[in-house]
Amino acid sequence: MKIRLKASREKSLLRRHPWIYSGAIDKIHGSPSSGDTVEVRASDGRFLAWAAWSPESQIRARVWSFEEAEVPGPALLRGRIEQALVLRRALALQGVTNAMRLVHGEADRLPGLIVDRYGDTLVAQVLSAGIERWRDVLADSLIEQTGCARIYERSDAEVRELEGLPARTGVMRGDTPAVSLEIVEHGLGYAVDVLGGQKTGFYLDQRDNRRRIGELAAGCEVLNCFCYTGGFSFAALAGGAMSVVSVDSSGPALELARRNARASGFDAPPTEWIEGDVFRYLRDARAQGRSFDLIVLDPPKFAPTAKHAPAAARAYKDINLNALKLLRPGGLLATFSCSGGVTAELFQKIVAGAAVDAGASATILGRFQAALDHPVLLEFPEGEYLKGLLLRRN
Ligand code: SAH
Repeated sequence: MKIRLKASREKSLLRRHPWIYSGAIDKIHGSPSSGDTVEVRASDGRFLAWAAWSPESQIRARVWSFEEAEVPGPALLRGRIEQALVLRRALALQGVTNAMRLVHGEADRLPGLIVDRYGDTLVAQVLSAGIERWRDVLADSLIEQTGCARIYERSDAEVRELEGLPARTGVMRGDTPAVSLEIVEHGLGYAVDVLGGQKTGFYLDQRDNRRRIGELAAGCEVLNCFCYTGGFSFAALAGGAMSVVSVDSSGPALELARRNARASGFDAPPTEWIEGDVFRYLRDARAQGRSFDLIVLDPPKFAPTAKHAPAAARAYKDINLNALKLLRPGGLLATFSCSGGVTAELFQKIVAGAAVDAGASATILGRFQAALDHPVLLEFPEGEYLKGLLLRRN
C-alpha cells in the first residue's frame, strides 16, 4: 500500500521528521488499515519512507524507516530494540540505577513505544497503531534481548484514544509483577507501583535532577510541589534538608510516599505530606506566613500540544509566581515543565513574567533536562518535552 504526499509536503520527511499529518496526504493507493505499513512517496513519485498507518489520528502515519531497502518487519524491529539497548549500555547507568528507560519512542525510532525497566521487570506502553500491530514481535524481542523476567503493559495513556485504540493493562510476558518493586537511584531506594502508579510507575526522566536537588538541599526548609511518590522529597532529605513539605493531589501516590518514608527512615516531624491542590496550597501557605529555602515545582503536562500553550502559560505563571513569593531571599526554585507544547524558550518567558508580577528578581543558576536514557532526536525537537530552570531569588 502506498500514499502520495501533496506537492512540497515532503519537506519535513526530507529532514527526517517522522510524522505525516493527514493534511499532507494527496492520494492513498489501496485501503490500509490500522497499523499497516505504507510506502510514502513524494508528489513526483520519489520514495520517501516506510510508515505505519494510523487512520484515526491527525498524525496519520509514523515513519519506520527512510531507507527503501529497509522494509519494516520483525528483523527491522528486533534491530531497533537492539540499537536502543546498545545506546543504554553506552550510558553506563549500571552503577547509578537499576531502573531506566530502554525505549523512548521516536528517539529510538520506534514511534509510540515506551519501555521502562525496573530491575528485572519491564513496563511497556503501546501508544500507536504501528506498535500495536507489531506488539508480539517487540515483546518477544525485549524478553530475548534484555533477559528480563516479565513485561507488564500499561497502555492506559489517553493518547491511545487519539489512535482509536482501547486502553489495555496487564501481563504481556511472564508473571504479574509484585505490587511494590524496589529500585535504587543514585544510592537511594524507592518503591514503585507499576500496576497502579502513574505512567509506568515512576518518573525516571527526573533522576539526575532529583540528585541535583539532593546536593542543594542541605540545611534547607524544602517545599516539594506535585511530589507524586516523593522522589524529590527523599533526595532532599538524604541531602540533609532540615524539613520537607510535599504536596500532591493523588491519595495513592502519597500513600506510597508515606510507606517509602517509613521504610527509609525519613519519617515523622521533618516531613509533612499534604494531599491537596498545589494552586491552593501555595496561596494558603502564603496566607499562613510560611516561607521556604528551596521549592520544587514539577507539575503534570499542562500543554500536551502547542494548541494548549496559552492556558498552560497561565497555569505555569500562577504556580511560579506564588512559589517565588514563598521563597526567602537567596532561596532556590527548581521549576519544571514537561509540556511538549511549551518550548524551553517560552517556559523561561513565562517564568520571567511570573517573577515580575511577584515583584521578585531572580538569577538563572542552571537548566534541567530529562536524563540521558530519554534521548532526543535532533530531527524531532518535539521529543524534548522536559525542561526546567534552577533560579535563585535575589
Ligand atoms: N516530581 C515527581 C513527579 C511529578 S508528576 C517525581 O519526581 O516523581 C506530577 C504530579 O502532579 C502527579 O503526581 C499528580 O498526581 C500531581 N498533580 C496533578 N495536578 C495536581 C494539582 N493541581 N495539585 C497537586 N498535585 C497535582
